[in-house]
Amino acid sequence: MPEPLLPEAASHQPMPPAPRPCALLLSGAQVVTVDDERAVYTDGSVAVDGDRIVDVGPAPEVEARWRPRRRIDCRGRAVLPGFTDAHTHLFQSLARGIGDGEPIWPWLNHFMWPYAVHLDAEDALTAVRLGAVEAARAGITTVVDHHYAPTDPETVLAVADAVEEIGLRGAVARGMLGDRTKVADARGLPDALYRYGTAEELELTRQCMAVRGPDARVRIWPAPLNLSYGDQDLVAGAVALAREHGVRWHTHCSEGAKDPQSYLDAHGVRPVTWLAREGLLDGRATLAHAVWLDAEETAAVGAAGAGVAHNPCSNAYLASGTMPWQALRASGAVVALGTDGPSAGGRQDMFEVMKQTLFAQRLAALDPAGVRCEDVLEAATRDGARYAGVPDAGVLRPGALADLVVVDLGGVAVQPVHRAVSALVYAARAGDVVMTLVGGRVVFEDGHCPGIDEEQLAAYASELADRLVRRAGFGSLTEPWRRRTERLGRNA
Ligand SMILES: [Zn+2]
Repeated sequence: MPEPLLPEAASHQPMPPAPRPCALLLSGAQVVTVDDERAVYTDGSVAVDGDRIVDVGPAPEVEARWRPRRRIDCRGRAVLPGFTDAHTHLFQSLARGIGDGEPIWPWLNHFMWPYAVHLDAEDALTAVRLGAVEAARAGITTVVDHHYAPTDPETVLAVADAVEEIGLRGAVARGMLGDRTKVADARGLPDALYRYGTAEELELTRQCMAVRGPDARVRIWPAPLNLSYGDQDLVAGAVALAREHGVRWHTHCSEGAKDPQSYLDAHGVRPVTWLAREGLLDGRATLAHAVWLDAEETAAVGAAGAGVAHNPCSNAYLASGTMPWQALRASGAVVALGTDGPSAGGRQDMFEVMKQTLFAQRLAALDPAGVRCEDVLEAATRDGARYAGVPDAGVLRPGALADLVVVDLGGVAVQPVHRAVSALVYAARAGDVVMTLVGGRVVFEDGHCPGIDEEQLAAYASELADRLVRRAGFGSLTEPWRRRTERLGRNA
C-alpha cells in the first residue's frame, strides 16, 4: 500500500507571504522608537506608506516584508520620532541675535513689545517662513507657534497656511490681550498692543478656529498672551473656546519670578491656583514655562494632566529660573520641550534644548542622576506629541503618523556611538539632521526643503529685518561690539 500523502502543511514550511509594496524604507539604521517598550534597534528599518509608519523592527525582518518604491540606506544614521517644539514664536525670527542682556520684563518692555508693535503682516509671514524652515531642517515636525503680532484673522490664518506650506503640523496659538488689567498697567505694556477688547479677541479667535478646525494639519488655538497680566474673563473665554472646538489652549505662565506675586497682589490668589479653582485647568491647558509654581500649583497641574512646555534655553538666556522638572513630571503633568523661538536664545534646535534641560536640572539639583538623556528624548518626542494633541505621533510604531527624523551619526563630533540615545542628546546638533518627514512627506532632505528657495528667503528676511530695526529704533542693538553702558531700546 502506498503511504498516505501527508497534508501539505505538515510536509512543507509555509511560504512566507510575498513582500508588500510601500512608499519608503529607511534601512539599516539605529532606530530609536520611543514606543511603549522603548525599543531601540541597532540594525533596524522603518517602512512608510501614505502618511503612516507601516512597519518597524530588526532590518532583516522588515526588509523581507516590504517592497519599497524608494529605499534609503541609513547605515551610520539614527531614525527617531520627529520633535515637537512645544512653545515657539516664529514671528520673532527677524529679531534673532539682538536684544540680549536683560531679564524678562525689561526685555519685553524695551525690546519685544516695540518689535511686536512695529511688525507688519509681511514681516511676520516672512519671519514665520524663515522660522518654519529652520524647524524643518532641525527635525521639528510639530510646532506650537504662539503668534501675537499682528493678530488680525487674515494674518493669523496666513501664518497657519505658511507653516503648513513648509510641511509642519501643529497649532498657531492666537495670542490675545483683551481688556487691560491693573497688572498690565503696572508693567507698562504699550497701548499699541491692545488692539482688541476681550469680547472681540474671543470672537476673532473663534472665526479663525472655524476656518481651521480640530482636524486641520495646523490648527488654531486660543492663547491669552500671559496668565499673569491677562484678563480673567479672557482666560475663561479661551478655555471655553478650546472645549467647544476640541482643541488645546495655550498661554505663558509664571515665567518670571515676580509673575505669581503680581497676580496674587491683584487677585488675592496665585495664577494656577485660580485656574484650578475655577475649573479651567484640564488636559487642554498647555502652559509655557511654569517656572515659578508652588507645591499646590504643581500638584494641580499634575492632577489635571495639563501640559507644560519647558524652555530651558530661553529660561537661561533671560535668567528667568529653572523649572521644577522632576516635580512636574512626577505630578502627572505632560512635560514637553520648547525653544521659545529664535529671539530668546538664538536657535530653534531641540538637540540643544534637550541637552540644556539636562544641564540646567543637574546643576540646580547638584545631581547628575536625577534626569537622564532618555527622559529628555521622551519629552521632546512622545510627550511633545501628547501635549500638542497629536497622539498618533511622537513614536515609531506601525500605525503611527510617519513624522520622523533621520540623523547622521557619522561625523567626527558624534562618533563613536556606543548608545544612540546618548549620541543624539549629548553630541548631535540640528545640523546633523539629514531628513525630516511629516505625515510621510519629505519636508527636508540633504540640505534642502523641497520647493523653498532658502537663499532668497533668508535674503528677503534680512532686508525686512534691517528695515524693522530702523523703524523700531533698535540701531544701537546692532552695534558690532556693544559697550556695557548701552542698554536695550530707545527709551532705556
Ligand atoms: Zn514665549
